[in-house]
Amino acid sequence: MSSLTLPQGPFEELRLILGDQLNAQHSWYKQKHTNVLYVIAELHQEAQYVKHHVQKLCAFFIAMEHFAKALKHAGHKVLHLTLDDSTQFDDLPHLLSHLCQQLEVKRFAYQRPDEYRLLAQLQDLELDGVVSHEVDTEHFLLPFDELDTYFKPGQHNRMESFYRKMRQRFGWLMHGDKPLGGKWNYDAANRNKLKAHDLEVIPEPLCFGHATAACFARIQHHNIPHFGQLDEALRWPCTRSEALALLDYFCAHGLPHFGTFQDAMTGRSPHSWSLYHSRLSFALNAKMISPRQVIERAIDAFEQHDDMDIAQIEGFVRQILGWREYVRGVYWVNMPQYSTQNHYHARRDLPEFFWTGNTNMRCLQQAITQSLETAYAHHIQRLMVTGNFCLLAGINPEQVDAWYLGIYVDAIEWVELPNTRGMSLFADGGWIATKPYSASGNYINKMSDYCSDCDYQVKEAVGDQACPLNSLYWNFMHQHRDSLSNNPRIGMLYGNWDKRSESDRDAILQRAQWCLKNLETL
Ligand code: FAD
Ligand code: SF4
Repeated sequence: MSSLTLPQGPFEELRLILGDQLNAQHSWYKQKHTNVLYVIAELHQEAQYVKHHVQKLCAFFIAMEHFAKALKHAGHKVLHLTLDDSTQFDDLPHLLSHLCQQLEVKRFAYQRPDEYRLLAQLQDLELDGVVSHEVDTEHFLLPFDELDTYFKPGQHNRMESFYRKMRQRFGWLMHGDKPLGGKWNYDAANRNKLKAHDLEVIPEPLCFGHATAACFARIQHHNIPHFGQLDEALRWPCTRSEALALLDYFCAHGLPHFGTFQDAMTGRSPHSWSLYHSRLSFALNAKMISPRQVIERAIDAFEQHDDMDIAQIEGFVRQILGWREYVRGVYWVNMPQYSTQNHYHARRDLPEFFWTGNTNMRCLQQAITQSLETAYAHHIQRLMVTGNFCLLAGINPEQVDAWYLGIYVDAIEWVELPNTRGMSLFADGGWIATKPYSASGNYINKMSDYCSDCDYQVKEAVGDQACPLNSLYWNFMHQHRDSLSNNPRIGMLYGNWDKRSESDRDAILQRAQWCLKNLETL
């Protein structure tokens, strides 16, 4: 084993910083200790536990490098290891035991990982003669210790009730004990389609320009499996000041229309991929900025904009104070069981076009190609385009999880898994959603301009040119009639199905069977 060049000691304590723990505001950094060494390492195990998009690998590695530099600059002792340095270690425990031994430290400290796999690895760690100590990441709004008072395992936990409690707890968008504006939720105002004249004023997204060549050379040199497109300059924020700049940019240009066009999709603008979304998820999930800071800054912008209506800010706050904290709670009270849920026994393989974008279905082609190009898609593309297709086609949740966990720059298991297995695939049988988010082509047509640019006919359910989602939708409904017809939010749809003639129904189900047998060709 070649020896690492270690900083001058002596050190009493080694503190680990994981790639998604880039929180410069953490109390660890309030004091400078000459006998504490921070270690931040590009790990082969993290680069390979799933096949990642190359932009995701670069974004994490570049952000980690900047964070290490910023800590050093602030006077802390830091050991930053690249893939070249860490290649000689089998895994994280091996690296840590080597470092503790070489440095002869007495204590090892880590911030509690947000991912079950890593938490188990660190909690099981045994370091000879070294005392381990776990601290909080100081990032989330709801303390970890309180999760089980808000969430119950193995059952449905209502997001809306949780969200209201959080609004009351933090007093955001409240007027005394009543919601500001009189309503808790303006979801109904979040469902507008973009019209032709709206396309001309979509704001240009703020992108950053970190050089990727050196990082990519390391990824290639170490044969790290990867996919997706990489540009010379990385568009994602990799420092705290860039994350704050993106937040400011969003408050000025995205927030005023965020709620209105939150669910809209288009393929007809150079900024179709970004629209009015914040694209803050990577910076948030890597903890470069905190949810509190994002929410308070956005509310501040709302209060300064006389003409911004409440639906815009409420829609945004709900995503972070509500959904983001909620999926974390559902994840932790249900792990590790969550990762094996497969309520519908879905077994089909993920079609190859998820890795190429090569499909005639315009909606999927647009969402997948954009994801391969940018490592990003917004919520409705993830939920109602790729997710809906996987639900209707009965794709194996393990493969769907691996795809979502790999492709998105913001994908970390605690947030990806409940969104994919729960919200998208209903694989948890209803722990998150009260009904499957299943939709025919009609929904895509209502929320986007994809269908008018598609080879398939969105109004048709049978025939070679019929939108595959229409027959797949009815096939799904037919297949799960026993459980879904009792659901008050979905049961009445069977009235429409039953009104059709038997021969119509048979033809639709046959078309669905053809589509399922020929998924790769759609
Ligand atoms: P905006 O639209 O600007 O929303 C603001 C913020 O709200 C986001 O940055 C995010 O932090 C939060 N947010 C919004 N919706 C959710 C949600 N459902 N769950 C948690 N936080 C939310 N988000 C991830 O951060 N990582 C993932 O791996 C991930 N996987 C997903 C998989 C599927 C199948 C689905 C349906 C959603 C997934 N999401 C995931 C949630 C959501 O799609 C992304 O957070 C969002 O698209 C990120 O883009 P943005 O920052 O522009 O978000
Ligand atoms: Fe998608 Fe169907 Fe519309 Fe084509 S017609 S874009 S496949 S919903």
